[in-house]
Amino acid sequence: MCMGNCLTCPIPYLAISIASIGIKRMYSKPIQKKRLISQLIFLFITNAAFIFGVTGLIYGYFYCWESPQATMSCPIGILEHAVLESSIFLAIYLVGTIAVIGTIFGRATCGWACPIGFLQDFLGKIKLKREIKISKIDRRARYLKYVILAIIPFAVYYTASMAYTNLCPVGGLTATLPLLIFHYNQYTPARFFIPKMIILALTIVLIINIKRGWCRYLCPVGAMLAQFNKISLLQLKFDEDKCLKCYNCARVCPMGLNMPYEVKSGECIRCGLCIDHCPTKALKFEFKWK
Ligand code: SF4
Ligand code: SF4
Ligand code: SF4
Repeated sequence: MCMGNCLTCPIPYLAISIASIGIKRMYSKPIQKKRLISQLIFLFITNAAFIFGVTGLIYGYFYCWESPQATMSCPIGILEHAVLESSIFLAIYLVGTIAVIGTIFGRATCGWACPIGFLQDFLGKIKLKREIKISKIDRRARYLKYVILAIIPFAVYYTASMAYTNLCPVGGLTATLPLLIFHYNQYTPARFFIPKMIILALTIVLIINIKRGWCRYLCPVGAMLAQFNKISLLQLKFDEDKCLKCYNCARVCPMGLNMPYEVKSGECIRCGLCIDHCPTKALKFEFKWK
């Protein structure tokens, strides 16, 4: 059934995935096949309000609750409401949700569930001959997302408004644009419409030019989840005795990590590409309780 919302509808994504020239290579390896299925399922669940309604749960990744078929709440939107309404309940609900997801999976929701991460996996395949090497700028720029996360509560408090939401490019892509395109008769651009669209355009330029550029540098939800990678039950394990030092793992890592030496990094989205490309199985996923 067409919901009149192509940007958040799974069908165009499916069409892209089938049509895309690089798709076979991208998802040909064992873990990547499972990851594609997981990303498609979560894309559907994320936008299935026409089945589940609005559930009152919080996404374990970044997605806009104003998106026409959104089933859950955006973690950053909840943070903003917690500050605006001085709501301890919302703060505990948010921290609890992120802590539970993070403690079990670390940042794996970024690699396996987040539709914005999924979109970046595709856009990152557009070849423009551009990838930033592991460099000081790249390393330092990664702290930006923590700064953004830390600033949000103050910005909300001092402006007494949804300061981040007003400018959020994810909201611009998944909520503002669908509303504008499909309900343009009723749509009245909000005060921050132009800046939001400019930020969205810049974000798209960023993610076409740098693999997972939004996740690396700017996503405040990624910044929340990154804290859990060191302690999460799901871990990436490295067996040095099996390692050939071929550095296939570093070459394929979409987060530009210095693999195989950064298995506990908060930047790892647990996508499993390094495992799939390791010739000796020196890398593997492991749940701690095993
Ligand atoms: S860091 Fe990327 S994958 Fe993770 S929540 Fe943010 S947008 Fe999604
Ligand atoms: S280290 Fe491996 S699992 Fe982590 S982001 Fe890089 S390729 Fe993916
Ligand atoms: S791909 Fe495997 S063998 Fe090669 S450097 Fe990485 S861990 Fe070592």
